[in-house]
Amino acid sequence: MAIDPNFDNNREPVGEENGVTVWGPVDEPETLGIHGTHVAVDYDICIADGACLEGCPVDVFTWVDTPGHPKSEEKVEPTHEDQCIDCMLCVDVCPVDAIDVDGSRK
Ligand code: SF4
Repeated sequence: MAIDPNFDNNREPVGEENGVTVWGPVDEPETLGIHGTHVAVDYDICIADGACLEGCPVDVFTWVDTPGHPKSEEKVEPTHEDQCIDCMLCVDVCPVDAIDVDGSRK
């Protein structure tokens, strides 16, 4: 299942981590929600493949540890989402469709 491109209508912001808005539900460590708004990563889909982080031309992503999460114990945080240039590389390379940029999947 891919990230919901309408997450900003279908979910509520529940806080902030690393300067990034988190959209619930969150029930740690198994359920971590969606991180980011312009560049949004569904932490409950992310498998820490890393192609987005390696390929992003403006270094939007940083690794964070998520011990105990059933899909992967690391995730990519869109820490610098304000620098995104909408190239869509991350959307295209993610093997599990965990990333949406500015509603691109709608
Ligand atoms: S769309 Fe491009 S610039 Fe924006 S986060 Fe993804 S890879 Fe980086």
